[in-house]
Amino acid sequence: MSTVPSKSSGAEAAEAILSLAQELQPICRSITGDGLRKTLHILGRELPLTIHEIPSGMPVLDWAVPNEWNIRDAYIKNAQGERLIDFQKCSLHVINYSTPIKATMTRTELEPHLHSIPERPDAIPYKTSYYHEDWGFCLSHNQRKNLGDGPFEVCIDSSIKPGALTYAQLVVPGSQPDEFLVSTHCCHPYMANDNLSGIGLSVQLAKRLLKSQPRLTYRFLFIPGTIGSITWLALNDSSRIRHGLVLTCLGDANAFTYKKTRLGNAVIDRVASHVLRHSGSSHATEDFIPYGYDERQYNSPGFKLPVGALMRTPNGRYPQYHTSDDNLDFITPKALAGSYDSLCSIIEIFEHDGKFLNLSPRGEPQLGRRGLYNGSQEETMALLWVLNFSDGTFSLLDIAERAKVPFARVKLAAARLTAAGLLRRLVENEQ
Ligand code: ZN
Repeated sequence: MSTVPSKSSGAEAAEAILSLAQELQPICRSITGDGLRKTLHILGRELPLTIHEIPSGMPVLDWAVPNEWNIRDAYIKNAQGERLIDFQKCSLHVINYSTPIKATMTRTELEPHLHSIPERPDAIPYKTSYYHEDWGFCLSHNQRKNLGDGPFEVCIDSSIKPGALTYAQLVVPGSQPDEFLVSTHCCHPYMANDNLSGIGLSVQLAKRLLKSQPRLTYRFLFIPGTIGSITWLALNDSSRIRHGLVLTCLGDANAFTYKKTRLGNAVIDRVASHVLRHSGSSHATEDFIPYGYDERQYNSPGFKLPVGALMRTPNGRYPQYHTSDDNLDFITPKALAGSYDSLCSIIEIFEHDGKFLNLSPRGEPQLGRRGLYNGSQEETMALLWVLNFSDGTFSLLDIAERAKVPFARVKLAAARLTAAGLLRRLVENEQ
């Protein structure tokens, strides 16, 4: 049986997540290339990851692994040789997957290659062009207004050529072969909520599980978005995945959002809803839509893996989304700690849920005689709920939902009743 600690240490986890985020922020990540590789190697310092390199051109489902993109430098210089736009200051300044360019051009020639957000004049937008050859610069609207007429020296020192797609995985073996998938994309440069928060939370959860002997087997994937999950699904056996979560956007200070699996009634849907309902924080539970993150691939009809997405504010619904304003100031220790605690509560239910048998089912057993009638009204009620419903039909989660109390309270009652000899956990084949 699991020894995952029930007491969470969200604040400690948040501190570690922020420190990792600080280290990872300057690295220019993409769906392939040295930035992604370096990121995964840093995570490999934290966790015993297996890092996979899948060659460009390999067919994966209906796709192919793309050529590898790397970038060394990029800038727009004025006639005096000053860097007006400098990739070294922020990796968002270049369209991710830009083809190389070195030219002198006028403002009119440069203009179609500039991207800014007039309604958010200080933010640099995040743009990508993975599957369509293009080049361009992203800059704040204020920078754009002050750029002048040129001529400019324009340089993007990048390359797109055959290489590999890098992803990392970690399997924390459990006493059962049934798997719980935790998937996080690792392809976004610079931005903190989307997606350094998800990376950090996955690392912290994996570290915690590695210190335990879990019941389920946990598979962690650190992959580039979309093409990473497609590549993993194409090359690996997913048949043991029974539950899963995509983690992203978990550091902003707003309410939780849980996006359900495609079927909407998977165990993870029930568990995540239960935890959020009892978290004391405001939250929303939303139905699956075929847009968002890698849950789209896992939930595609050929796989039907029950993978939900745990977020705070979802993609596209906060004004800082996919801009330089999604930075380290936008994610808060409190939000990260709360996200970690909720995540651990979800895992705790998967680890500890089960059906029990009341060994004294004819009438209520006398609790006082066993020292079990001296707790609070809530504790006593939890004992009575567990005794009454432990006829081998109802799981602890069923009982918690029926009693409208947090799972942890029912779990504790079951432990006390078991210690008093009044209850016995049914093993898998008895259920
Ligand atoms: Zn994103």
